[in-house]
Amino acid sequence: MGATVIDGKAVAAEVRGRVATSVKEFAGANGGRVPGLATVLVGDDPASQIYIANKRRQVEEVGMRSVHHGMDASIDQDELLGLVAALNADTEVDGILVQLPLPAGIDQDAVIAAIDLRKDVDGLTAPSAGLLAQGRPDLVPCTAQGVIELLRHTGIELEGAEAVVVGRSILVGRPLASLLLNAHATVTVCHSRTHDLAGVCRRGDILIAAVGSPRLVKADWVKPGATVIDVGVNRTDDGVVGDVDFAAVLEVAGAITPVPGGVGPMTIAMLLQNTVSAARSRSD
Ligand code: NAP
Repeated sequence: MGATVIDGKAVAAEVRGRVATSVKEFAGANGGRVPGLATVLVGDDPASQIYIANKRRQVEEVGMRSVHHGMDASIDQDELLGLVAALNADTEVDGILVQLPLPAGIDQDAVIAAIDLRKDVDGLTAPSAGLLAQGRPDLVPCTAQGVIELLRHTGIELEGAEAVVVGRSILVGRPLASLLLNAHATVTVCHSRTHDLAGVCRRGDILIAAVGSPRLVKADWVKPGATVIDVGVNRTDDGVVGDVDFAAVLEVAGAITPVPGGVGPMTIAMLLQNTVSAARSRSD
């Protein structure tokens, strides 16, 4: 019998519905002011342009304000830092999202570090990561938070579960490991130097792949009945595929996310949720 396919689009739509309600409540309590998200895109990378356009559209669809700053790739570091400082000071801006990657020549870490902790809706600054690592999360990276939301929505028990995360990036793997640990799972994090990756993956009641390697996770890497979450987005000749060999793993797992339509839609939904949370915290 095949695994349950977890419908990320449906869960994301529910989250957006909740956010839209929260936006109305926020506006009611704040003289009609709605939460505002500022997006910053440097250069003209086509994939980044699509990501930003999707984010802006969804921000507006839930009733929030979207302000965009498109900068030429030749912008210098100080000018970009000046823009971030202006957005930090702008009382109408509740969240700041700098689309990554930034062009070569700009110190990405310095730009992220300049974002006010209270407006760090991507959760990528060191203080946000530190709070999460200490088990007192505030704004959490959106994809990692989206994975947890999907697991909870599907009714997967996290407490005491053996969770294996493949990937240790600051964007996905590390925050996910902290979130799972905070939810009392027993967490193993794998990476490119892990010995016997297949054997470690097979231990997971919950197996999460965030690697960027098409169909890396095979059926015999998966514990029968496990929940498999595929974060990977890989463009191949067959179209977009995940990090999991979906068709084969479907026969072994208990539940699995598809690509596309699994984790992807959750990322922007969590960005919207973070922006409302940031607005609420600032108005309190
Ligand atoms: P990343 O920064 O490139 O990190 C990849 C991680 O995978 C690294 O920790 C790397 O290990 C590990 N890795 C690479 N090859 C491996 C292998 N053969 N065996 C075991 N581990 C291996 O990538 P990322 O930003 O975390 O993104 C991961 C994937 O998720 C990508 O496909 C990305 O497009 C996708 N993604 C999707 C969303 C979404 O909204 N759906 C959002 C963000 C990312 P080392 O640390 O040892 O190098």
